[in-house]
Amino acid sequence: MFDKTLSHIAYRINRASFIKPSVITFDVTDRCSLRCRTCSKWSSQTVRKELDASAWKEIICSLKRWLGNYRVCISGGEIFLREDIFDIISFARKQNIYVTAVSSGYHITSATADRIRASELNGISITLNGVTPSTHDFTRGVEGSHARALSAISLLNKAEKNMFVCIITVLMRYNQHEVIDLIKFTRENHLDGIGFQALHDTTSFSPFDSNHHFHEENTWYVNNPLWPQDIHGMLSTIDGIIEYKKKGYRIGNSFKSLQWMKRYFQNPKEMLKTKCMVGINNFSIDPYGETRLCFSMDSVGNILRRKPEQLWNGRKAIQQRKDIKDCKNTCRILMCNFNDK
Ligand code: SF4
Ligand code: SF4
Repeated sequence: MFDKTLSHIAYRINRASFIKPSVITFDVTDRCSLRCRTCSKWSSQTVRKELDASAWKEIICSLKRWLGNYRVCISGGEIFLREDIFDIISFARKQNIYVTAVSSGYHITSATADRIRASELNGISITLNGVTPSTHDFTRGVEGSHARALSAISLLNKAEKNMFVCIITVLMRYNQHEVIDLIKFTRENHLDGIGFQALHDTTSFSPFDSNHHFHEENTWYVNNPLWPQDIHGMLSTIDGIIEYKKKGYRIGNSFKSLQWMKRYFQNPKEMLKTKCMVGINNFSIDPYGETRLCFSMDSVGNILRRKPEQLWNGRKAIQQRKDIKDCKNTCRILMCNFNDK
């Protein structure tokens, strides 16, 4: 309750020196082998050189000096395209950082799964958009990606595993009919849960895109082929998710976020009735050390040049917290952005 009050004060005055971010993300690469219809990263690659493992270790330590034993989610791109990712994860674990990861599973072989276990990663979410190969492969743009995701899940989800293994699914027109089967699949395969992301602006991944109009109404969903045509069907699907969650199935989304998803699919602009708290909660570091509060806005500075607390409390962050209040985008529905408090 006290934390919530402090967050709202920080939101109101655009200053957050008396609180610290709780959603820390390392996006260690923008490279990816998939061609997801929901993502623009793969179509807009950069030639910038990614940080090496020693730079990531420096970042891990500078954040620890500021935050203590924090939690971080390592994401991409596809993180297992980096040969040194195990070194980065192991180093963070040795500093008592709680580390989770997101992967498509595309590059997880038996040997990779052994190295993941040995790294002592705390948990991994594999992205799976359907129970059938046709649905999953269509949404991910690469044939055979479903088979590889299932193989990764079975290689990682051993009885003797030392981490959680979950699924993440993007809810959209092309998979809404398979969602309940995915929930059942999670239980039948003794997975630790499933989380749902609502489809959002498929062009919103910075640093490559510059077509964002934060202060104008963003209508990316109009005529978007991935947006559900049968809205009532989508609402029934989400009601189904809620029912399974009530029955005790492990569904990562809160009831509150699922109810908001229903409003969002009926009219995305409904989200503008909620506060976007990313300026108070989030701290994301990209493959080049650029640090963001909002994943779609400009960097507030490079974490290798300034201490994280200086970035968090700096002039750019203060200005950006004002911009975030005026933002007319609806991606505050996403799990890592949603204001669940
Ligand atoms: S959503 Fe993830 S897996 Fe798909 S193309 Fe984008 S970065 Fe790659
Ligand atoms: S809604 Fe929030 S997360 Fe999305 S672009 Fe706006 S400020 Fe960023």
